[in-house]
Amino acid sequence: MRLQLQLETIPVWDGLKEGSECFICSLMKQAEADGIRYYLSSAVMTPEVRVEMNRHGFCPHHSAMLAEGGKPQSLALAMDTYYDENKRTFSPFFERIKGAGNARKAEKAAEALFEAAHSREKGCLICSRMDDRLLRYCYTVAALWRDDQDFRSALESSKGFCLHHTEALLKTAGEVLSGDDLLHFHQSMIALLEKNLDRVQHDDWWMTQKYKSENKDKPWNGAEDAQKRAVYKLIGEARVIDPVEK
Ligand SMILES: [Zn+2]
Ligand SMILES: [Zn+2]
Repeated sequence: MRLQLQLETIPVWDGLKEGSECFICSLMKQAEADGIRYYLSSAVMTPEVRVEMNRHGFCPHHSAMLAEGGKPQSLALAMDTYYDENKRTFSPFFERIKGAGNARKAEKAAEALFEAAHSREKGCLICSRMDDRLLRYCYTVAALWRDDQDFRSALESSKGFCLHHTEALLKTAGEVLSGDDLLHFHQSMIALLEKNLDRVQHDDWWMTQKYKSENKDKPWNGAEDAQKRAVYKLIGEARVIDPVEK
């Protein structure tokens, strides 16, 4: 029990009531959208934010979302100074390659250039903001499971979480719970996962059956999107990819 975080009781309860395949996925999609909105807002005009953006930037996934975010002016401004910073990093390598006396030296310098480019790509400000929220959501789920009997019963009879966020939950649980609580939380979340993986698989199987002509007129029983749910139940949505190392 090392962390003391503010509980996110309201979003977590609201998420649970939504009844989706994984309400942490829904909350993280919201966190991602908020992150994109923030870095395309007038916040990019403030020097501190620009310094942060020039230093860390974004992972390829979130860079692409920014590019498609429909805010050309903010993004153009941010990219202009980001390119300046790139130039400072890349120029010495460009010069070394241009002045290389043999192929071996050119190859070595190119290798160093792309190493520098890769380390420049590391760390994403949007992933970092999402990671902070993910930690608080997981922390809140474990705390409410311990302290609120209504929450525990509602959660245990819900559709549970995706495999990806079950991992995040169990990794965080030790910050909130200990001893028998920690043991029972693991057992409860794994039972919930197992039951719901079976349910999703059953829906997916029913979809395969629905494509047989003899089942054409039978009801879908909610399996119309089962193939997609089967995928996202494993990988989750709106994943934290590469948060900035603290
Ligand atoms: Zn999820
Ligand atoms: Zn990212």
